[in-house]
Formats: sequence, C-alpha cells, structure tokens
Amino acid sequence: MPDKEQPEWLTTLEELPLSSRLRTKESLKRFNTWRIGGSADCLIDVVNKTDLALILSFIRKHKIPWFILGKGSNLLIPDTNWPGIILHLSGEFKNWQTLETDSSYTVKNIVSAGAALADVTFAQRSVALGWGGMEFLIGIPGTIGGAIAMNAGAHGGETADFLLEAEWMDMSGELHTTPRDNLDFNYRFSELKGNYGRIITSAVFELEESDLQTAEKKMLECQQFRMEKQPYNQPSCGSVFKNPPGDYAARLIEDSGLKGKIQGEAQVSPKHANFIVNLGCASSVEIMTLIETVQETVFRNHSINLELEVQILQSAGYG
Ligand SMILES: Cc1cc2nc3c(=O)[nH]c(=O)nc-3n(C[C@H](O)[C@H](O)[C@H](O)COP(=O)(O)OP(=O)(O)OC[C@H]3O[C@@H](n4cnc5c(N)ncnc54)[C@H](O)[C@@H]3O)c2cc1C
Repeated sequence: MPDKEQPEWLTTLEELPLSSRLRTKESLKRFNTWRIGGSADCLIDVVNKTDLALILSFIRKHKIPWFILGKGSNLLIPDTNWPGIILHLSGEFKNWQTLETDSSYTVKNIVSAGAALADVTFAQRSVALGWGGMEFLIGIPGTIGGAIAMNAGAHGGETADFLLEAEWMDMSGELHTTPRDNLDFNYRFSELKGNYGRIITSAVFELEESDLQTAEKKMLECQQFRMEKQPYNQPSCGSVFKNPPGDYAARLIEDSGLKGKIQGEAQVSPKHANFIVNLGCASSVEIMTLIETVQETVFRNHSINLELEVQILQSAGYG
C-alpha cells in the first residue's frame, strides 16, 4: 500500500544512485538557530558534487519545492511540515585549503573553502595562520555558503570584500566559476543564492597580511563585543531587520517602546532590540506576529518600513 503521507516523487528520488543520506519527515528544529519549526518531507545531507548535480536536475525536472540550507542562522521555518526537499551540504563541501600563490605564482594569503564550512572554523583557521580581515566571521554562526549568499558582515567588513571567486552549480547540475568582479553584491544581498537557482559549492578568498597576535586580538574583540551587546546565549536568528539607510533598526524599535515585548514564547530582546529571542518553545507564528507588530509600530511612529533580513522558508527558484 502506498503511504498517503509520502509524496509520490520520494520513491523515484530514493532510486537515484546517491552516496548522500536521505531523511524523511525530519524535524528541522535542530537545523536552525531559533530552534523552531516543523519537519520537511525530505532532507538530504549532500556529500559531493556528483550527487548535488543529480538531485538538482531531479528537482528541476519534477518541479519539487526545494531549499538550500546552511546552518539556518538566518531562517524562519514554519511550524507545519514543509512539503519539499531541503538540501544540507556536508562531506566534501566542508573542505579548507590554503593556496598561498595565485595563478601568476605571486605569494598571497589565499584560501579555498567549501560552502558547508562553518564561519567560525574559517575565522579560527585563518587567524591561526596570521591572516587577517575576516576575523568578524567568528561571531557569525553560519556557513561560508550562507555568508556569500547573505553577504554577511560585521565590524565594518563584508564577506564580498575578500572574495576572489565563487564556484556554484545551476539547476541543470552544471558548475560555474565566477570572479568576484562579475558578481553583484550589496548590503546583505548577493545574486548567488538558492532563491535564484544557484547553489554555492566553494569559494576562494584573499585575506590580509597580519600576524598571529594582532589577528587573535581582533577576533577576541569581535567575540567580546557580541557577548556584551547581543543575547548570545538565547536562540535567535541575529538581526531580524535590515538597517534602513542612515539609521539602525534597533534604535527605531527601541524608540517605539518595543524592547522586551513578548508574544507567547517569543521576545524582542531586552539586550538588543533587533534580535527576537526564543524564550523556550516559541512557534513560528508567534515570531511572525511579533515581526508584524514591530513593523507596524515602527511605521506608525517613524514612517519607515523595516525590511526583513531574516529569510522565510519558501521554495527556491528553478533557475
Ligand atoms: C547570534 C547570531 C548573530 C549573527 N550575526 C550576524 C552578523 O553579525 N552579520 C551578519 O551578516 N549576519 C549575522 N547573523 C545572521 C546569519 O548568521 C548570517 O546571515 C549567515 O551568513 C547565514 O548563514 P547560514 O549558513 O546559517 O545560512 P542559512 O540561514 O541557512 O540561509 C540563509 C540564506 O542563504 C542561502 N544559502 C545558504 N547556503 C547556501 C549555498 N550554499 N548556496 C546558495 N545559497 C545558500 C539560503 O538558501 C538562505 O536564503 C547572525 C545570526 C545569529 C544567530
């Protein structure tokens, strides 16, 4: 008897010759830093590019809802089951390799990193070599793929500033390598994103010459700043809203009297007003209600539309 709960495409997907692990009806709670949300019909731990190409072509052919997930540190997941495929890169996508010379054999601080490598690992490994510039990644709990897709940044630096080239796959499974100068980046914006049917697989960065002591000091300062200013010990997604031009979302929210506001188990952090924290078992609906309250109140008080920085889980494009 076919399982009515199971989508029809799942049986065909299970027949593909993959090395990657498929999980069905997997809870997504431990795949996001808010620690909320329901399950997904299917979650695949994709271990290599051969599998990724096969899966993407399959998704495109059958028009299955899909999403590429990093560490879910900038993501709101619905409370109900998500009827699609979540791609979670692992295996060879966690690679890290120093190159030290470029194509003209000039000695440089060049590193290649897989899209699934944790930002924190990237920061620690580069600092250990005395290479500077990207120490800010120590405070960003995502992956290199997520950092490029979001053009993540802090303390005056942005991921795109250090990028030399990115390798990505399109929905037909074809690999591309694009130099930084041919890519459009902006404040928390990149044209390389799952939403546009582009999956970052790895990237090459050029870091700055520094020394171990200086780079370590800078990294510790970034960490200390977060511990003082942000609710680092409570589940969150970091900044919920983008800063509007010339102002700060946190200032506008605080000025609107919303710091500490509670909706069920979700709260506008009393420590940093642009963070919404999960007090225990917050639902996605509670977080969304609080987001809408903040947007409406700030608009009433300041005539400013706060744009979301956090991504809401919905099917990415087919390219
Ligand atoms: C405590 C805390 C502090 C934070 N501080 C900062 C900060 O200082 N600065 C900052 O910029 N952000 C910050 N963030 C937000 C978040 O960490 C970043 O946006 C991060 O880059 C997201 O990476 P991720 O791997 O978790 O991506 P996810 O949240 O999993 O995904 C985010 C988006 O990137 C896309 N994506 C992920 N991987 C890929 C890939 N391989 N190919 C294509 N698209 C991909 C997803 O589809 C999604 O659209 C913070 C978050 C937390 C929880």
